[in-house]
Order: sequence, then C-alpha cells, then structure tokens
Amino acid sequence: MPEKVALIGSGNWGSAIATKIGVNASACADFDDKVYMWWVRPALINEKHENVIYLPGIELPHNIVACPDVATCVDGATMMVFVIPHNFLAPIVPKMEGKFAKGAIGCSLIKGIEFEKEGDMKPILISDLLQAEMKKSDGAPVVDMSVLMGANVANEVAKGDFAEATIGCTKPENGLKWCKLFNTKDFAVQAVTDVAGAELCGAMKNVVALGAGFCDGLGYGGNTKAAIIRIGLKEMQKFCKVFYGDRQIKDETFLESCGVADLVTTCFGGRNRKCADIFAKNIAAGTPKAWDVIEAEELNGQKLQGTGTAQDVMKAIKAKGVVDAFPLFSQIHKIAFEGPPSPTH
Ligand code: NAD
Ligand code: 13P
Repeated sequence: MPEKVALIGSGNWGSAIATKIGVNASACADFDDKVYMWWVRPALINEKHENVIYLPGIELPHNIVACPDVATCVDGATMMVFVIPHNFLAPIVPKMEGKFAKGAIGCSLIKGIEFEKEGDMKPILISDLLQAEMKKSDGAPVVDMSVLMGANVANEVAKGDFAEATIGCTKPENGLKWCKLFNTKDFAVQAVTDVAGAELCGAMKNVVALGAGFCDGLGYGGNTKAAIIRIGLKEMQKFCKVFYGDRQIKDETFLESCGVADLVTTCFGGRNRKCADIFAKNIAAGTPKAWDVIEAEELNGQKLQGTGTAQDVMKAIKAKGVVDAFPLFSQIHKIAFEGPPSPTH
C-alpha cells in the first residue's frame, strides 16, 4: 500500500515544503499521489494552487489538496508532517484522535521548544510532546517521531535554490522513508539518528539569531556577528548537555545542516534576525517598539519564534541555577525583555 501523507500546517514553511513533498508524492509509487494539507481557507489553495497569504508567487503542486478540518486531513494517514508554530499546536492534536492509521509515523518541522510550566521549568521537545499527545488521544501504539531541521529559509527553498536539511530519527528505516519524501534535486536531505540534537539546534538557533539582529541593527560588522555565531553555537551545545545529557546528543550533529548551517543562514537571512535588527534600531533611535508590533508590521501574519524561546530558555536556566554558564543567551534576553541598557553602562 502506498504511504498516505498528511501535512499539518500551511504557513510559510509548510507551503514551501509542500513544493517538495508534492513533487515526490506524484513521482514515486511509494506514496499516494494526493497529499492533504491542513489549511483553514482551502479555496485559496485549491483554486489558485498558491498560498497567497504565506507564500505568494510560488505555484504549489496540484496534488496538494488543502483541507479545512484537521481530522479529515489525517484520516488514514501513514506519514504525518507537523509544521505549525508550536504555540498553536495544543488544540490541534486532540482533533486527530483515532483518525491516522495504526503504525503511522510523524515528522516535526517545528523549530521551537516547550517548557514545563512550573517547578524546574524542564524543557520538553516538541517531538516528544507530539508523541505523548498522540498516544494519549489514540490510545494506540506510539507514533515514532522524527524531525526535519536545517538551513531552510522557506522562500529560498520554495524558489528552488539549493538547500540541505537533516532528518533526526530514532529508526534508520524511518529516516530513509522521510528522506525519500523530502529529497529533491535542489533539496538534499540526510538522516542522523539524533532526534534531540537536531531538534534542539533548530530551536536554539532562533535565540542566537536575535543576537545577530541586534548586532546588525547597531551597525556592527561581520567580525562581531561571527563572534555571536561562535559563542551561540557553544551555548547551544551546552544547553543540550545541561538539559538533555541523557539523550546521547552527538557532537557531529552540530556540523550537519541542522546545526551550524541553520545557525548561519538564520543569522543572515531569517525573520528573527530581521525583527531584532529593527528592534535594536528603534532602541538606538530612542523610539522603542514592542516585539508584537514589529512582528505584525514586518511579517504579514508569519510568526516570530525566537522571542518566546529566549524567554523560556531564560526561565529554564534560571530554574536550574546555570545562568552564568549562558552569558550570550542571558544578554540577548536582557536586551529583548529588560529594557534598553542604562546610559551609565
Ligand atoms: P508562519 O510563521 O508562516 O505562520 C503561519 C502559520 O501559523 C500558518 O500555518 C497559520 O495557520 C498558523 N497560525 C497563525 N495564526 C494562528 C492562530 N491564531 N491559530 C492557529 N494557527 C495559526 O509559519 P511557518 O513559517 O510555516 O513556521 C512553522 C514552523 O516551521 C515554525 O516552528 C518555524 O520555526 C519553522 N520553520 C520556518 C521556516 C521559515 O523560513 N518560515 C523554515 C524552517 C522552519
Ligand atoms: P526564521 O524563523 O528566523 O525566519 O528562520 C527560518 C529558519 O528556520 C531557517 O532555517
């Protein structure tokens, strides 16, 4: 039986990745030709084959069929791709109850992290959260979760510029299945058996990107940004060791597309960098602007991930008493949320 693929999410990245999945689903007999994509306004996509809100100007493959109801979208699905900003996930998963196929596998493209809301604020991987939630709702065997992370600014991937990505998987055979679904001649995907390492890289680089944006906004050059990237990478690794020492995160993962490459592209071309650049310029001009105002003005409905993650990371490192081990993350948090530095400093 061909794999039935469902795409849960249709924002900037969800639509961009649909251009790869759609092509492969229609060309490869391993997959059912039709791919359902969850989207609350299906007519916009099903008539024009374009996501005019989140990915204007890019034609989507015609076998991508938008579907307004998430339960219908995942009905009988054997491969589920999750790609929505993580703060919107909570109400969605329970609606999938009993719908996806037994033995279905999942892949999260979500770059974010959740934290326990009280106590020691322990971080929770989105892939773990999804796995636990789906088990709870379906009462079924665990959905094996992989992740796809990488240097993937969505607009560039959608245009067909060459890019790489990393699948973090627990089972190599599932990693191969996901590579087959995503890999195209302009999108080179490789699997590593390190879900936590790949996913944490994808979440943490959004915090470092805020630092890169501050650096640009204040007019510093490449040397300064390189220092932020280097120190950021080390703090990302340290965060993994401090909070996920038990998950055998591999040092090599940081050298894959999901690691240093994503950090670099996000610090040069991402939305977090762009908004932080504007944030810093406004502070320097003495006209500070709130993050949500900048997000609304600059991103046309797309969502900023780094600010929420920076706040959560700060709570977690405070709760564990390791703030001093993360000087860059702490400083980024300070600039972003504790007001402009006093003129005496
Ligand atoms: P986006 O920033 O384009 O946000 C739009 C998405 O949010 C849509 O799916 C929309 O339906 C949903 N949304 C907006 N408001 C909502 C609400 N009130 N309730 C429920 N849903 C709502 O999303 P994206 O760029 O596709 O990002 C999804 C994930 O992919 C994020 O974790 C992001 O970090 C990651 N990612 C993004 C890119 C990129 O370049 N855009 C690249 C790689 C990974
Ligand atoms: P931004 O969310 O900062 O645009 O980063 C996109 C991304 O994850 C590139 O790989």
